[in-house]
Amino acid sequence: MIIHNKFIGGNIFVDRIEEQHVYLRNEQRDTVAVNGKDRFYWAFVVEGAEGQELTFHFGKRRLGIWGPAVSHDLVEWHWLDQNEDNTFTYRFGENESKVYFAHHILYHPTHFYAFAKRNGLTVEEFCKSRKGSSVPCLKFGVGERSIILTARHHACESVSGYLLEGLVEALLDNPIENTRVLVVPFVDYDGVMEGDQGKNRYPHDHNRDYIDEPIYPEIRALIDYADKYGCHYGFDFHSPGHSDKRIFMMASIKPEKIHRFSDILVEEYLEGGLRYAAEKQVEWKTLDPHEPMRTFNNYMSSRPENELALTLEVTYTGSEAYKLTADSLRVFGHSFANALRRYVLENS
Ligand SMILES: [Zn+2]
Repeated sequence: MIIHNKFIGGNIFVDRIEEQHVYLRNEQRDTVAVNGKDRFYWAFVVEGAEGQELTFHFGKRRLGIWGPAVSHDLVEWHWLDQNEDNTFTYRFGENESKVYFAHHILYHPTHFYAFAKRNGLTVEEFCKSRKGSSVPCLKFGVGERSIILTARHHACESVSGYLLEGLVEALLDNPIENTRVLVVPFVDYDGVMEGDQGKNRYPHDHNRDYIDEPIYPEIRALIDYADKYGCHYGFDFHSPGHSDKRIFMMASIKPEKIHRFSDILVEEYLEGGLRYAAEKQVEWKTLDPHEPMRTFNNYMSSRPENELALTLEVTYTGSEAYKLTADSLRVFGHSFANALRRYVLENS
């Protein structure tokens, strides 16, 4: 049997194996602990354990309420629905030669290429990553209004990929007139491929790189794009703390606009989708005028043409009432598109 991280998004360190017990740690890599808090992302594959029952131990908070996400192909994922004290047990079937486990459901570039193909769209190169890889994007629509949709400024925050699928589908089905849309679903492309935490990277992560001289080519390219076409609406999808069951907005500028959009999003709930509830609708971050946070949403909000820009923090797990799955994320993406369409109509 082997346990390893040699696949897209892989992240694990095997401490030791004692009979049927496997002791694991995740890899922090260049992520710096902030206020003593390290990061919780991990993903690994077990090969050659057919017929065995193994118990995996993390020793600290590394499992959400449904336990690990499980996959046989990195495409379809389900929750194991088991978490006892950050330990889980898996009985490998006689033919289960390869099983992936992860902190939450993963979303890889292969998902995105398949999604584009299903919808008759062509994935374009947005820019080259630091490591020379082609960073994918989608562009559709024409017009004076520019909407920018981004995810994975923090590499591991993968669940929004499915949300973006629903959102883009809805915008294709029922376009907002006079509007061009840019979708960059893997802003930290190299980090996504390598399975990095991404958050709190040294010396700063992608979502603190909206500075005069960005160090990441993807951020340079996003600023250049906004200079060329504007960013009238900018939405950056993230995920919050490991065990937060909610979806909430983070924004620091234009509170009345954020509140209005937030109210609409509550109203646009669709059956079967994750729910954006009022319990933690908007969380404010105070901007220190001497050292503003150089985030996507602060930067885009500050542009003169911008109407609305925000960060949406999307739970990794959902709650008991609204469980996170690829499908519930896609349905929520439709809600988000409907809310956006309404907001744009109200303001044009
Ligand atoms: Zn984030």
